[in-house]
Amino acid sequence: MNVLVINCGSSSLKFQLINSQSEQVLAKGLCERIGIDGSLTYQPEGQDKIKEAKAMPTHTEAIQFVIEALTDPATGVVKDLKEIGAVGHRVVHGGEAFASSVVITEEVLAAIEDCNDLAPLHNPANLIGIRACMELMPGTPMVAVFDTAFHQTMPEKAYMYGLPYDYYKNYKVRRYGFHGTSHSFVSKRAAEIFGKPCEEVKTIVCHLGNGASVCAVDGGKSVDTSMGLTPLEGLVMGTRSGDIDPAILEFLAKKEGLDITGLMNMLNKKSGVFGLSGNLSSDFRDLETAADEGNPLAKAALEVFAYRVAKYVGSYAAAMNGVDVIAFTAGIGENASIVREMVLEYLGYLGITLDSEANKGRGKEIRISTEDSNVLVMVIPTNEELAIARETVALV
Ligand code: AMP
Repeated sequence: MNVLVINCGSSSLKFQLINSQSEQVLAKGLCERIGIDGSLTYQPEGQDKIKEAKAMPTHTEAIQFVIEALTDPATGVVKDLKEIGAVGHRVVHGGEAFASSVVITEEVLAAIEDCNDLAPLHNPANLIGIRACMELMPGTPMVAVFDTAFHQTMPEKAYMYGLPYDYYKNYKVRRYGFHGTSHSFVSKRAAEIFGKPCEEVKTIVCHLGNGASVCAVDGGKSVDTSMGLTPLEGLVMGTRSGDIDPAILEFLAKKEGLDITGLMNMLNKKSGVFGLSGNLSSDFRDLETAADEGNPLAKAALEVFAYRVAKYVGSYAAAMNGVDVIAFTAGIGENASIVREMVLEYLGYLGITLDSEANKGRGKEIRISTEDSNVLVMVIPTNEELAIARETVALV
């Protein structure tokens, strides 16, 4: 079956058409600036990218263009829509309502809408994408795959904040976690490589991308993760602060005259390694180059980032009373060998020894611990689209 995977943002839409038998990507692309002017980038497998300006007032036109591109007689990869057996939609927040992926019905749409308050920038956009697809592809089964669902196995002690209980009872203020599709995909692969059923393996997944989180996976289940009610908690990220003393908000509000919108903008967009490096860059390639050239702020940003990752890994080894596999994934985890080395330097007490030569590799599956290391340390490239396609096929 061919599965169309859709990841819909407020003004963009990424898509991949994946053959579920061969797990090959038949075509992929991106609609950008939806509601502004609009452009479609489309790339059939093994061919060059085609980028065209296209007026897209709404997501419905964007999806119409995606369908036209996929079925185009010259550059398309399927003859008609009947060759697309199902659509898998990435949905950011499933709240407590969804502990797994689901086939989309009107009730499901209403339940996703109920989670809009928890992810006001993402869920409404995801819903618009789903509704546009339902309109243009009636009769094709649709599945919602949630970023939060994998973490619904977290125990209460991991998901409750030290806040008045009524906020949980009335508003569901608790920790949810994100990147669940990636943590699930990578931890399953980690168990396969480790050579034991996932029920018997303790894995810590470090998903280090522009957004970054660490997840403790015990026996195939997420038992803790570093992101919380929103993706702002946890690690220091590209532009997000991660954990801070909440009292900083009042302090800076007074000093800088910022209101809550200004403060949230600062924490989400101006902080992280970008802010730490004196607004140099949120991209680790730039930071590594600058650090090599002796820029002290870039060097400090990398050190703060790696130290925070190491502290989370250490705390999750404690939470699970041990760890068998540590897996690095996403843009930084897969590519930045220096960051992996900096993180692992803190973890010698777990009996981890780094294979420095192997650690020079990037962007592919690599074992980076030595044979005699107590913990297997791997680079495992994530593939969220493939994970969504697999979930979709399993449900339809
Ligand atoms: P992601 O959000 O998973 O796409 O990751 C994006 C981030 O990965 C970029 O912002 C970079 O910081 C980082 N990245 C990608 N390629 C490299 C590389 N070759 N070396 C270091 N960092 C990289």
